[in-house]
Amino acid sequence: MTFLDTGIEYLKGVGPQRAETLKAELGIFSFRDLLFHFPFRYIDKTRFHLIRDIQNEGETYQLKGILRRLETLGEGRAKRLTATLRDESGAIELVWFQGMNWLERTLEIGKEYVVFGRANEFNGKFNMPHPEMEEVNEENIRKASNFEPVYPTTDKLTQKGLDPKGLRRLLRTLFEIMPPAAIPENLPDYLLESYRLAPRWAALKAIHFPTQQTDLDAATRRLKFEELFLLQLRLLQTKTRRKDAIRGFVFDTIGNNFNRFFKEKLAFELTGAQKRVLKEIRTDLGAGRQMNRLVQGDVGSGKTVVALMAMLIALDNKRADGTPFQACLMAPTEILARQHFEGMSALVGDLGINIGFLSGTIKGKKREAILAQLASGEMHIVIGTHALIEDWVQYQNLGIAITDEQHRFGVQQRASLWKKNPICPPHILVMTATPIPRTLAMTLYGDLDISIIDELPPGRKPITTSHKTEHHRLRVQGFMKEEIAKGRQVYVVYPMIEETEKVDMANLMEGYEAISRDFPMPDYQVSIVHGKMKAADKEFEMQRFVRGETQIMVATTVIEVGVNVPNASVMVIENAERFGLSQLHQLRGRVGRGAEQSYCILMTGFKLSADGRERIKTMVSTNDGFVIAEADLKLRGPGNIEGTQQSGMLRFHIADIARDTHILQAARDIATKIIDQDPTLSAPEHARLREVMGRQEMEARVWGRIS
Ligand code: ADP
Ligand code: MG
Repeated sequence: MTFLDTGIEYLKGVGPQRAETLKAELGIFSFRDLLFHFPFRYIDKTRFHLIRDIQNEGETYQLKGILRRLETLGEGRAKRLTATLRDESGAIELVWFQGMNWLERTLEIGKEYVVFGRANEFNGKFNMPHPEMEEVNEENIRKASNFEPVYPTTDKLTQKGLDPKGLRRLLRTLFEIMPPAAIPENLPDYLLESYRLAPRWAALKAIHFPTQQTDLDAATRRLKFEELFLLQLRLLQTKTRRKDAIRGFVFDTIGNNFNRFFKEKLAFELTGAQKRVLKEIRTDLGAGRQMNRLVQGDVGSGKTVVALMAMLIALDNKRADGTPFQACLMAPTEILARQHFEGMSALVGDLGINIGFLSGTIKGKKREAILAQLASGEMHIVIGTHALIEDWVQYQNLGIAITDEQHRFGVQQRASLWKKNPICPPHILVMTATPIPRTLAMTLYGDLDISIIDELPPGRKPITTSHKTEHHRLRVQGFMKEEIAKGRQVYVVYPMIEETEKVDMANLMEGYEAISRDFPMPDYQVSIVHGKMKAADKEFEMQRFVRGETQIMVATTVIEVGVNVPNASVMVIENAERFGLSQLHQLRGRVGRGAEQSYCILMTGFKLSADGRERIKTMVSTNDGFVIAEADLKLRGPGNIEGTQQSGMLRFHIADIARDTHILQAARDIATKIIDQDPTLSAPEHARLREVMGRQEMEARVWGRIS
């Protein structure tokens, strides 16, 4: 046990009770946990601003002045405590909406205060809501030469005296008793030198108690680098080990299935990106190791045909004992699986390939027949839902398993595909249409190889996106009628989330009724699909739309993923402000699949939040899924990107992969170089790294999910 492993209850000023609360509230069990509980901001007390100098909304300022007025204004929800602070340069209004009684009792007119807060602009004047107030005394004037760390804390901790100030005291105590040897350097000297990184001890000290901005910057950079670098090193090490350890079937033959499909059936020229990705897949399949590859491609980039051709390669090959390989494709919904089944069946046509469909709705004799054919090898390809990974599905010789739209499947489900061939795990190909920013993909899928289809098939017209409000309702309807008159079809999508399900459902039905009224039969036919319908009914309605029997599809986001109706040219999204960016982009991707000009109309209320407005603006200004994904990452932070919530993967102490892309890229590059040259980290200059990989330090929590 090292110094840092000491239980937090043993730190002076903690004790058993506070220790319990620290554990429960912040997960701080040991000295180490406390050391890595970093401030989330600093109060710049290196200077006092003059009130006159307040220029920027949203920026923080430290002021020193005399309290001149203190009064409660307004009533009910508008009730507030206001005060005037005056210094030699001017005056500013301070305002509180909470804790008013207490403040009114403690603040005194005529006294001098140190005031810290964020400037807010109202009617052309600055005020300061909820500022921190401290009476001027010797200490806070002296401390004015410091950055004061502010630590995340909770109500329960605050009640026990561990507000940010209390935590600051604990960290001071820790640094007083901690020998420098407790924080050994863990990066090689050559890295510290070539990347001008601050030493570890100095960085940790400065992150808690910086004395000037440059120290703080250097410390932040060093610790971010360390966090990202060690994670990348670990991911790459796992990947390398797995590659070395896990054998894979060798598919070295390109045979009849692939060649005949290519020559006789493929109706278009593959895009350069499709060719490149296929080549990457072919190389994997021939390498004798299990493929674990993610194919990312924006909606409509043509992932389906790539998946099909990868499956055909499997079918062209045999195990050493002569047993041919089979392939499966798993999709997250029944509708999507069926569409893949029908699409692929049509694509391969009369090549003599037996393709089956399997889902929870396939029952009785039909199911038995499919299972028998899969077990005997008569069935070459099976396409379906997660039913494909159930225990009762046995393959004769599964060679490749593909999952489409990855973000709907868990890591667990991906892993269960591995067991579907007892001799050796099948090759795994994961396809996703959710563009993930490179930085995020590197981390989230750091253990997968990544291919990107970054080119759309030629001849696509970019979708025209516009933003409309209730004012334009009639015009939007007129436009829908025009498009329908040209023979096109229209989607109208409503939000549906669990928390507000009842209201959402009512809105959807109201919308459906309104549309049925405004687009009356027999001229118009309207379909409706939502999650509460029976699978068979959903399917029936969806098929009516697919066949062109209905012109308008009123739906929830159940249609978000994959569904392909090339004749649909208009996507109207109701309450668009309630959708996330990546979801809006997915929905928009349902149109623009044919040769016609397509439109996406974002309907919103008049009032939009700043975020909502930014999302709409982004959608109107670009069709590029990667640009949208980057914007999404910036707006929502990595923890909220679809597919990452459950992973717990992106809880960093200090790094922010949405912003620290340069550091991440450098960390990744350096880690790659090191693992390439010294995969076991046995070179003398990597002794420290080897030791760190053995221990679990700062990266411990992040590491939880992987491997
Ligand atoms: P996604 O990547 O969203 O799954 P799909 O595979 O469904 O995209 O492809 C979208 C449409 O583009 C399909 O109708 C498909 O036949 C067509 N397509 C795919 N690749 C090409 C290509 N290279 N040239 C022309 N059309 C293509
Ligand atoms: Mg698809």
